[in-house]
Amino acid sequence: MDGTMVKKAKIRRAVNFIIEENIEAVQWPRECSACGGIPTIFDRIKMEKKFKNFGIIISELRNIPYCKPCFQKVIATKGLDKIVLTLALIFGIPLGLLLSYLMAKDPGTRIVCLGLLLVAGVGIAWVFFYLLIRFPVKSIFKNNFTEYIDAWLFEDEKADRTEGLSVMVSIPNKRFAEKFAVLNEVPPGGVK
Ligand SMILES: [Zn+2]
Repeated sequence: MDGTMVKKAKIRRAVNFIIEENIEAVQWPRECSACGGIPTIFDRIKMEKKFKNFGIIISELRNIPYCKPCFQKVIATKGLDKIVLTLALIFGIPLGLLLSYLMAKDPGTRIVCLGLLLVAGVGIAWVFFYLLIRFPVKSIFKNNFTEYIDAWLFEDEKADRTEGLSVMVSIPNKRFAEKFAVLNEVPPGGVK
């Protein structure tokens, strides 16, 4: 087979990695992405998001390598994050409504942007529960949790200035991230 025929993922680097094309061709270092051990589990992240200009987009990042102990910690950490997010929504939405009620009473405020205040309420609640729950739990039981690779779709202005969709990938393990960059021939980082 001709090696030049193989599709390559097109990735650039800002704070995170940004996959512009060929997500299915992403290469992973052959080691656990959390601890560097021998990988035995290959995780996938399914992404689905509705965009005004593109409709519903579904994508998937495959073959993320973990060893078994780390993968169990990843599941636990994702569970913890879900609890924090759920609490942020339960308490943040009423907080946002309260904020908009308070601002509506202020005669100086003509237009109250409810959506923005709801987002602000959820954001404030998220930070609160992150500091109250996630941070201490993860610090105290640090052997049970580990940071994990995450990915999400976003509307992107690509390097060639065309609008499109890309996938943002955060790799918390710095050493693994450097190997990932080399393997996928990502140009040196820096904010675009
Ligand atoms: Zn591991």
